[in-house]
Amino acid sequence: MNKITIAIDGFSSTGKSTVAKQLAKALGYVYVDSGAMYRAVTLFAMQHNFINENEFDSKRLISELQNIRISFNFNEELGFAEVYLNGKNVEKDIRTLEVSSFVSPVAEISEVRKKLVEQQQEMGKNKGVVMDGRDIGTVVFPDAELKIFMNASAETRANRRYHELLDRGEDINYDEVLHNVMLRDNIDSSREDSPLRKAKDAIEFDNSDLTVQEQFTTLLNLAKKAISDKS
Ligand code: C5P
Repeated sequence: MNKITIAIDGFSSTGKSTVAKQLAKALGYVYVDSGAMYRAVTLFAMQHNFINENEFDSKRLISELQNIRISFNFNEELGFAEVYLNGKNVEKDIRTLEVSSFVSPVAEISEVRKKLVEQQQEMGKNKGVVMDGRDIGTVVFPDAELKIFMNASAETRANRRYHELLDRGEDINYDEVLHNVMLRDNIDSSREDSPLRKAKDAIEFDNSDLTVQEQFTTLLNLAKKAISDKS
């Protein structure tokens, strides 16, 4: 059967990665979390003190980009690929609110985007991939056979992210999370290079009132139709 490319874009914490993982598993496809790559670059910038609350030395980061190696390794137990930064598993380290608070300014830099987009296109060149992010249907895979643009109210999204972070043991409050979600939406949609936009041929999908299972079933049906249309 022909394999397709599935691009899932949308605002922060819309549940893109949850459904992308489910779809990849059900279809036997590779799942790529492109946001994890931007987060890994941000972690590198934090570790080298190129970015902190007061300043962001983007020139230093750009000059060090060739020393940043991002890879994914499938974890059988978890059922998805974890992200590695220069050979070290950073899956947990990249999910903190601190990384979330610096990632959008890092993702605005064209040199960063160019490097990561090239790697993403390479990972998806044989199709059979589900990739989620902000520019997958518009820039990374403009020819993807199925494009989904996910949305939900900012409060629903912040609430989901808040509980996710609490479960991971982070000491945070809801308002901080809501603020971060809204700020990232704003920076991601207004940046010059590859802003978050719905691709013309993407299907808009608001999951505010759907359970995870309902969302999965709907999107799996769309994916099966796209695959059979191609065959
Ligand atoms: O998907 P996630 O929330 O982990 O993404 C973190 C950040 O990475 C986003 O807020 C955005 O700034 C950036 N990003 C991006 N392009 C992508 C994926 C993520 O700019 N394709």
